[in-house]
Amino acid sequence: MGNELFEKALPILNQIETHHFEAYFVGGAVRDYIMHRTIHDIDITTSAMPDEIEDIFEHTIPIGKEHGTINVVFNNENYEVTTFRSEGDYLDHRRPSEVHFVRNLYEDVQRRDFTINAIAMDKNYKIFDYFGGQKDIQSKLIRTVGNPSERFKEDALRIIRGLRFQSQLTFDIHTETFEAMQLTCSDIEYLSIERIVVEFKKLILGSNVKQSYHNLLSLKLFNHIPFFNELDMTCVYINEPLEFEQWLAILLIKNDTLPSLKQLKISNKEKSDIHTYIDIIETLPQITSKDALKLFVYDYSDYYILKVLNIYSVLQNNQIPTASELIINSLSIKQVVQHLQLHERKEMDVNGKDLLDHFNKNGGPWLKNVLREIECAIVTDKIKNNKEEILKWVNENVKI
Ligand code: ATP
Ligand code: MG
Repeated sequence: MGNELFEKALPILNQIETHHFEAYFVGGAVRDYIMHRTIHDIDITTSAMPDEIEDIFEHTIPIGKEHGTINVVFNNENYEVTTFRSEGDYLDHRRPSEVHFVRNLYEDVQRRDFTINAIAMDKNYKIFDYFGGQKDIQSKLIRTVGNPSERFKEDALRIIRGLRFQSQLTFDIHTETFEAMQLTCSDIEYLSIERIVVEFKKLILGSNVKQSYHNLLSLKLFNHIPFFNELDMTCVYINEPLEFEQWLAILLIKNDTLPSLKQLKISNKEKSDIHTYIDIIETLPQITSKDALKLFVYDYSDYYILKVLNIYSVLQNNQIPTASELIINSLSIKQVVQHLQLHERKEMDVNGKDLLDHFNKNGGPWLKNVLREIECAIVTDKIKNNKEEILKWVNENVKI
């Protein structure tokens, strides 16, 4: 019952134990296994030191050796094997200044964030649950391991992680844990934006995002995060899971200001996707004819337009104008794609050089305009994508 991934990883636990160390599965995989959810990646916690793990296994990668984490490559799969550790002081509210390796499981799970994430499991599927994680899974509760205010003061990212798990798992947040979130949430300003964005991406995609987004707003959590603190976050209402880029596009459309996306330290592809979503959404109301739809699909691709169609209800809930679903729907888009003569400009049977030769003229802004006019004529099937026909059409129809 959903334990194939553990079965594949069992030889790792066995091998570590053969060398007289302890080893357990821990964290998200054990939680998801107990909840009968799909397991993604398996984390292993062990009493062996990083050097000892490197000695035991043939193929290892020291991905976070100073924090105790060695990647063990076994049967072409990667497993993160982390030495039992407790954490030192959190002097600057960020990451612990140092980690202490320890030799027992209890101390290791004690430093973990929530009871549901602090359950370990040995090679016989025996559960080690020191903080009532299974009971909290049953009661669908997110509760910190230990005193919530202290745990959030140590690392304020746990506040966002708590809301992220609420969104993914549809759990409630235990009253005292939630009260501590209210008390400590200004410490979020000490976190790096990269760590916050990792959690936001998961939170906004969670099936219970409506509830946890409401909590994000009620905690006024965005006031403490660069970029978001320049936006009016209350003017966007999220009722369904979204991708991070789609969420950002909606936020920017609903706000008049445009804070720099640089602050989020996301990739160029992510930035470009956000702009594509903004352009698509802002163009939607202009798509009132078959020709407009053909150009729209050509310009933005069926892939991105279908992704916007998937979030129509969020757009409508936020009073963002859309197009008639009679004109734009998944069927009409697929039909348009099948019949497009052109999919990208380089497929066009004339290029800039052909036009320069044809008109015997120097380059300039005119060239870009003519190329676009030809492109539109082909995409809307006014002419065939054929050099002779294109040049004849240009002679008769385009003013240069
Ligand atoms: P996912 O299914 O999304 O991977 P996860 O619970 O495995 O969820 P990770 O971010 O992969 O979450 O972290 C692995 C484990 O490490 C957690 O289950 C938790 O035990 C511990 N952990 C991670 N981040 C923190 C933190 N900031 N403070 C304390 N413990 C943490
Ligand atoms: Mg994980």
